[in-house]
Amino acid sequence: MADKLTLRRGDRLVLATHNAGKLMEFKELLAGFGLDIVSAAELGLPEPEETGTTFVENARIKAHAAAKAANGIALADDSGLAVDALGGDPGVYTANWAETANGRDFKIGMRRVEDALQAAGAQGPSERHGSFNATLCLAHPDGRDQLYIGKVEGTIVWPPRGDQGHGFDPVFMPQGFDITFGEMPPEMKHSWAPGKVGLSHRAKAFSKFVDDVLGGGVEH
Ligand code: IMP
Repeated sequence: MADKLTLRRGDRLVLATHNAGKLMEFKELLAGFGLDIVSAAELGLPEPEETGTTFVENARIKAHAAAKAANGIALADDSGLAVDALGGDPGVYTANWAETANGRDFKIGMRRVEDALQAAGAQGPSERHGSFNATLCLAHPDGRDQLYIGKVEGTIVWPPRGDQGHGFDPVFMPQGFDITFGEMPPEMKHSWAPGKVGLSHRAKAFSKFVDDVLGGGVEH
């Protein structure tokens, strides 16, 4: 069996993303692990085309492309919002729903989700259930990889609320809360600490990654 990928203090990790919101969250989550972090954008790596039809396929495409191009271990995230009343859309195409002639505009993306919910006749909270999903892929240039998956359930609200976070955060109210991700400070959206599971999809996947790759975040 191929050796498992692990990371220790001082190791270099390429964050395989060009998405400023995700990069900010990863830097927050990885602070304190002593890794030498550099992003694909900072290295000027090209963004691979996300041709997969699942979060796993796209996370793998991004992680392997960055690992090969940078010749080092890379971590990628493929994530998105899945709304039940929309048959799981926008799903892996979440970023595309925010695409405009002038680049991504998440206000427009959120409006498109709301328009689709209205067209589907989804009015009450029970008809507006959705989840944020994140798949992390850690890849080595030699082709090895490891996957970590996280999901958070919630309700799609309208109008958008809050100016924190990124992407579709202002319309997502996680189960058990009466505020959206857009209204939460980052520490609350992550709610992650060594030994804890985390609240957001990314924090939950990150928690599994830390247990498996960073020895739980506890110094040995
Ligand atoms: P991709 O993983 O690069 O295909 O993009 C996923 C898209 O999902 C992002 O561009 C965001 O619009 C959205 N998304 C993923 N995670 C979050 C989150 O934590 N908050 C808000 N939007 C998110």
